[in-house]
Amino acid sequence: KAKQQGRDTFVAYSDDLDEKLLKRVTLRNELQEAIKTGQLFLNYQPQVDLRGQVCGLEALVRWKHPVKGMISPADFIPLAEETGQIIQLGRWVTTQACQDARLLLDMGLLKGRMAVNLSPLQFHRSGFLATLREVVASSSLPPSSLELELTEGILMHNSEAAIDTLRELAAMGVATSIDDFGTGYSSFSYLKDLPVNSVKIDKSFVDGVLSESKDAAVCRGIITMAREMDIKVVAEGVETREQFELLESYGCEAFQGYFFARPMAVEDLRVWLKQNLNVQ
Ligand code: C2E
Ligand code: MG
Ligand code: MG
Ligand code: MG
Repeated sequence: KAKQQGRDTFVAYSDDLDEKLLKRVTLRNELQEAIKTGQLFLNYQPQVDLRGQVCGLEALVRWKHPVKGMISPADFIPLAEETGQIIQLGRWVTTQACQDARLLLDMGLLKGRMAVNLSPLQFHRSGFLATLREVVASSSLPPSSLELELTEGILMHNSEAAIDTLRELAAMGVATSIDDFGTGYSSFSYLKDLPVNSVKIDKSFVDGVLSESKDAAVCRGIITMAREMDIKVVAEGVETREQFELLESYGCEAFQGYFFARPMAVEDLRVWLKQNLNVQ
């Protein structure tokens, strides 16, 4: 009987695996199609300073599947990283974001930098800097209007190569920030050797800042340390005035979250920016 049960379990498990694999293969093929046929587009979320004035934008990729509707980047970015499609996708994102930023700049609507999320695969790839230079040049966006958001994982090991790449970016005028800061299970002290411009406090800590004294301690610790090191701090995922005010009292100077603005299509962004900047 036990053996019978064991077999049944095995069969069920195996079916489940097949189904998962099939789903992934399908999604992979559909993503290829999406990149080719323009199903991807970008949303932009403003970052604001203490007075609520825009001080930057973050580009966030969206996939509108013709049948399945909107698919979250949390579902397709990891897949694109596994399949290597992130290289092609990331290049498209960077190109589009630079072009949109250039147009906003021409309209007097770009305050601060356009931030683009970068996958570790892109960053570590040989030829990354050459490709970036080419993409930036083709959009004629000044590199000083661009920021790249990296993850802690990219930088944790403080490899010479990674630090060299960061220095090259700084020399180009491109800013760098560490996204989801605090989630990488690393000691914060590695920051002191890194030429990065800013850190973004992960939303999970901001979520708990009012209710969990440990989350509040992490937020305070990051803000204090970054300020001492002359690194800018952005709090992400700020949803309420209370969170904003508490983070402000800790010394945080830049914010991003639904409390200020949601990610928007570029047409809506233009309207929002004109209002925020009091431009006619
Ligand atoms: P992220 O870079 O940390 O981006 C912040 C995420 O938080 C975005 O989710 C944004 O829509 C969401 N968010 C912002 N404010 C709030 C808030 O107040 N409340 C809540 N609940 N959420 C908020 P999104 O757009 O779904 O992106 C998820 C992740 O996917 C990003 O996290 C980033 O890691 C990745 N991603 C998105 N676009 C790209 C891309 O073009 N390239 C790469 N490599 N990764 C990307
Ligand atoms: Mg980001
Ligand atoms: Mg983040
Ligand atoms: Mg995140």
